[in-house]
Amino acid sequence: MTVPVIELCDVSRGYDDGPPALDDVSLTVRAGEAVSVLGPSGSGKSTLLNLVAGLDRPDTGTVTVDGVRVDGLGEAASARYRRAKIGMIFQFFNLLDDLTVVDNVVLPAQLAGMARGEAARRAAELLDVLGIDRHANAYPGRLSGGERQRVAVARALMNRPPLLLADEPTGALDTASGEDVGQLLADLNADGQTIVVVTHDLALARSCTTRTIRLVDGRITADADAIAAESAR
Ligand code: ADP
Ligand code: MG
Repeated sequence: MTVPVIELCDVSRGYDDGPPALDDVSLTVRAGEAVSVLGPSGSGKSTLLNLVAGLDRPDTGTVTVDGVRVDGLGEAASARYRRAKIGMIFQFFNLLDDLTVVDNVVLPAQLAGMARGEAARRAAELLDVLGIDRHANAYPGRLSGGERQRVAVARALMNRPPLLLADEPTGALDTASGEDVGQLLADLNADGQTIVVVTHDLALARSCTTRTIRLVDGRITADADAIAAESAR
């Protein structure tokens, strides 16, 4: 068995008066897996991803990612952890609009202290692989949604994170661009990248993940190797 990249043990997280956003969730994701997390709005998908990313803390339980206990990290350690271990992509790209494409992509490496020349080479290579090298010096506002998400993927991969997290990465894209992103994630996983994708988009889950977890009211109600059963319904 390959090593766990994510290990959640008995994790719960609630907000004020409401029911728990996550209710006693335990989950292991191993290196090389591509996992989708499906579930209705409000089922706890983003909460789960934020706990794994160290952007939020559980009330109870432990979160371990690539050997790091994430649940107890302070703010500075948590930021360092994310730079070293996590690439994230979001529905609305979260690019910095007053930086060029290449400067957006290089930023995580600069924050991690990578040498300037090495960072520039790595960024150029990623932009090339992702087919957006001709936009290197453009500002994100000039690009289409699909192109912006490619920039976000390049930025996420900059520091070679052991774990790539995506929260509704096709939520703001047209169908064709969404399919592109699915293919891109599938290619990355074929090269060994461990991926967790939170999505409403069944086609995306089908195209780029081989294991599907279903969340309902903060609990895992299904965890299957494929979504064949899902699509047959
Ligand atoms: P999903 O991503 O599946 O739509 P979320 O994880 O965002 O679900 O939310 C799960 C539940 O937790 C929802 O009931 C939501 O209202 C609540 N919740 C999430 N974040 C917060 C927050 N920062 N403050 C209060 N309630 C929150
Ligand atoms: Mg969400």
